[in-house]
This record gives sequence, C-alpha cells and structure tokens, in this order.
Amino acid sequence: MAQTTPNHTMTVSGWAAHDSSGKITPFTFNRRQNGPTDVTIKVLFCGICHTDIHHVKNDWGITMYPVVPGHEITGIITKVGSEVSNFKIGDKVGVGCLAATCLKCEFCKDSQENYCDQVQFTYNGIFWDGSITYGGYSNILVADHRYVVRIPENLAMDKAAPLLCAGITVYCPMKDNKLFESKGKRVGIIGLGGLGHVAVKFAKALGHHVTVISTSPSKEKEAKDHLGADDFIISTNPKHMQSSKRTLDFILDTVAANHSLGSYLELLKVNGTLVVVGAPEKPMELPSFPLIFGKRSVKGSMTGSMKETQEMIDFCGKHNILCDVEMVKTNEINEALDRLAKNDVKYRFVIDIAAESPKI
Ligand code: NAP
Ligand code: ZN
Repeated sequence: MAQTTPNHTMTVSGWAAHDSSGKITPFTFNRRQNGPTDVTIKVLFCGICHTDIHHVKNDWGITMYPVVPGHEITGIITKVGSEVSNFKIGDKVGVGCLAATCLKCEFCKDSQENYCDQVQFTYNGIFWDGSITYGGYSNILVADHRYVVRIPENLAMDKAAPLLCAGITVYCPMKDNKLFESKGKRVGIIGLGGLGHVAVKFAKALGHHVTVISTSPSKEKEAKDHLGADDFIISTNPKHMQSSKRTLDFILDTVAANHSLGSYLELLKVNGTLVVVGAPEKPMELPSFPLIFGKRSVKGSMTGSMKETQEMIDFCGKHNILCDVEMVKTNEINEALDRLAKNDVKYRFVIDIAAESPKI
C-alpha cells in the first residue's frame, strides 16, 4: 500500500515499477474518492507508450517510485461528481496524458493547457491535493472531468486507447504546420512505431504523400500495403538518404532512441520544418549546416489540449481511424515492455485491464 493523503480511501488494483529495473508487479493502492468535479472510470484498456519505458527505467531521471504507468486509457464512467454535467454513468470515455493544470494562465485560458507551466500528468505527476498521480495500469481511475474525452460510438475501445497519447501527439504538430489546410504535401514520418503508424494514417487521411523513414527494412511491405505509405526510406542506407535529399515539406520525428538530426534535415526542402516529438534521454545532435543551407526549422510539440484531443478523436471517428494493436494481459506487461524496448511490436501493445488474468 502507498499514499496516505486524506480522502484517498478507494482501494485500487494496479501494476507498478518500484525501481529502475523497470520490472512491473501487482500493486494495491488508494485513490481519492470521487470529488464534485471528478468522474470515476472503470478502466477497460490501456496502451503501452514508449514514455512508459522512459519512466519505469528512469531514463529522464524524474521518476517517483512506485510508478503506475499508463496514459492511453479507455473505460466506462461509473461515478459522476455533483458539479459534472457533461458526462453520465455508462459513458465511453478516454483519458490521456493530462491530469491537472492551473486553469488560470494564458495557456489554460486559450485551450492550450498542455503548455501550462504547472501541468501535471496522469502518472508521475502531483495532483492538486498533493498526491502523486497513478496511471492507467490499474482497474479504476478517478479523473477531473476537464481531462476526459468522449469516445465516438463507432470506435472500438481497445484500438482507440493509443489515440489518447500517440494519436494526439502526432495530430497537433500536423495541424500546427498546416497539414489540415491543403492536400498533397510531402510528409516524412521518422520511426514506424506507436506514434509513427498513427501519423501515417492521419497524413494519408489528410491527402498527403507520405514517406516513412525507418531503421527497419522488415516494416516496408506492411507500411505500403496496409498503412498506405507511398515511399519507404531506410535511414541507415546512405544511398536512400542521398537520393531523397530536398524532397519533403514536413517531417515528424517520433524516434525514442538517441540520434542525430543532420541527415534527416537534409531530406527537407528549403524552408521545410522538422517537428520533434520523440524524447530520447540524451540531447540530439543538431548540426548547423543543414539548417543554414536549407533555411530549415526544428520545433517540438508536446501532446495536445483537451479540446484538441476531443477534436482528434472525433476526426478518427469520422475517418474510422484506429490503431493497429497487439493485445496483452496484465501478466504479460513485462514481456510487452521488453519487446517494445527491442522495437518488436506492430505497432502498439494494449493491456486488456478488465480481462480476468492470473497475477504476475
Ligand atoms: P515506439 O513505438 O518505440 O516507436 C519509436 C520508433 O523509433 C521505433 O518503432 C523505430 O521505428 C524507431 N527507432 C527505434 N530505434 C531507433 C534508432 N536508434 N534510430 C532511429 N529510429 C529508431 O515509441 P512511441 O511510443 O511511438 O514513442 C516514441 C517517442 O515519443 C518516445 O521517446 C516517447 O517518449 C515520445 N513521446 C512523446 C510525446 C510528446 O508529447 N512529445 C508523446 C508520446 C510519446 P523504425 O523501426 O521504423 O525505425
Ligand atoms: Zn504516451
């Protein structure tokens, strides 16, 4: 048991890592009772994001153990606070990365609360009441209703779960960089993993020409035949990279491992933009020449606001976009994390939290 914050009296079964070995074991803990602005959610499914690995292994040096990961959550509302009018018991909902923001700053007021400097996340964050947040590798979640979205009826809850992080993280930079405003742009996606495969689907749904830039030759056929990618460049093949110089308008970098940006920047046309969403533990090498000679830009982007998250998931409902997932049971979480670390998943593991399964 952990946490002794007053009002944290609801016992929950979860799965936590306790040190930087990253090994996950069953963990019983207390959540707050449903407050006036909260909803309680029976968790059905939770995606395994690479960010979960960064946290359980303390890659970024910020982990507060025990950590209950999980920020790609879908489930059903079981309780609604007295001040919540937009949700009711039985609603199909999703929770992503955000758990709390200040609600007062310019970013919170302008529906960009993901950039609030007091932002707190669904796990490894500190909630308004001072408690450490625990994520979706657990059977019950209590969330303030302002950080909950509605899942469209036509989307399957298991394959929709990764949209709550992978989906919104790739949706925002595409919108910010005007990919929703005109078709036919040349878009490059670096890394065909959880984020990358959703990015390919979004860019294709928006009518763009999509090039996957990958370290995995084995992913080419499926990327083209199944995900609809138009081109596939092997980033470790200098000839491929050389012959694709100055071909792309926009690149999204979803790579979780340490890497240099130089050769990728060369793929951009003059004035092109590369947006970094991948978060390797070490600083990226950013050579000045490809920037200067191509008047190119490098930007970052972090998840999305709740307004954008609802908009993204409604866009997925409209275009019938779901993630390609491998389902795992709660006793298979460690194996799934090991396989994800080895780049062995197509393309997202999702934990069937509600399924009966033996303990680890
Ligand atoms: P993932 O499923 O592991 O995908 C990452 C992909 O990167 C892999 O599938 C692989 O694709 C490629 N890759 C792996 N090693 C590489 C290397 N050495 N060089 C180049 N490419 C390599 O991870 P994810 O869940 O999509 O997350 C990706 C990153 O985004 C993580 O760092 C995560 O923390 C971060 N993230 C950021 C945000 C945000 O708000 N900015 C949100 C969510 C996640 P190929 O096999 O095709 O090369
Ligand atoms: Zn994530």
